[in-house]
Amino acid sequence: MARYTESVCRLCRREGAKLFLKGSRCYSKKCAFERRPSPPGQHGVRRRKVSEYGVQLREKQKVRRVYSVLERQFRNYFVVAESKPGVTGENLLRLLEFRFDNVVFRMGFATSRAQARQLVGHGHFQVNGRPTNIPSFQLKPGDRIEVRESRRVRDPFKTAKETLRSHQAPEWLSVDAAKLAGTVNEPPRRDQMPLDLNEQLVVEYYSR
Ligand code: SF4
Repeated sequence: MARYTESVCRLCRREGAKLFLKGSRCYSKKCAFERRPSPPGQHGVRRRKVSEYGVQLREKQKVRRVYSVLERQFRNYFVVAESKPGVTGENLLRLLEFRFDNVVFRMGFATSRAQARQLVGHGHFQVNGRPTNIPSFQLKPGDRIEVRESRRVRDPFKTAKETLRSHQAPEWLSVDAAKLAGTVNEPPRRDQMPLDLNEQLVVEYYSR
C-alpha cells in the first residue's frame, strides 16, 4: 500500500492552512505552521500570483491531504461521487467521511487520521462482527464498529473508555464508550462535516 512518508507538517505549510494531521501536536505551540507559515522550500516566501487553476489545484490537494488519500484513489472517489445523485462535492466529502479510518478518528479512538489508519491496519477493529483491517473500507449507515475482544487489553485501548467519554463525536455517529464500540447512524450532512474546505473548487478542478 503506497502512502506519503515525508514530514506532514510540510503539507500544511504548502497548503497555507492547518490540516490537523498530527493529533495533539497540532493544538500545541510545537505546530510547525504556527511557527513558520510560509510554504516550504528555498523559494517558499516568494510571492506568486496564483491562477484560477492554481486555486483549484491547491484546494484539491488540501482535501486529498486532509484524508491522506493518494491521487489515483482520490480521483476514483470523484468518479463515484459524480455518478451519484445530489451535489457532487458533498457526495465526495461523504465518501471520504465514510472511510473506515476516518470514522475511527471521528468516533475518538484516535487523535488523528494517521493514527486511526494505523490502528485499523493492525487489525484492532471489527465491522458488524467481522475483523476488518482496510483503512479505505466504505462504511454505511447501520454499520457497527467494535474493538476486537482480544485487543481490548492492549496499550492503545487501555484508557480508551475515558478518552471516548470525553470526546464529542459528530451527530451522525454514536459511540458506546463502555463497549468500545460505535455505530454509523446516517450519512453526514454538509454542516455535520466541520471542514474548512471548498469542495466546489475540487469539482471545478476535475471538470476542466
Ligand atoms: Fe499541520 Fe499539525 Fe503539523 Fe501544525 S502540527 S503543521 S497543524 S500537521
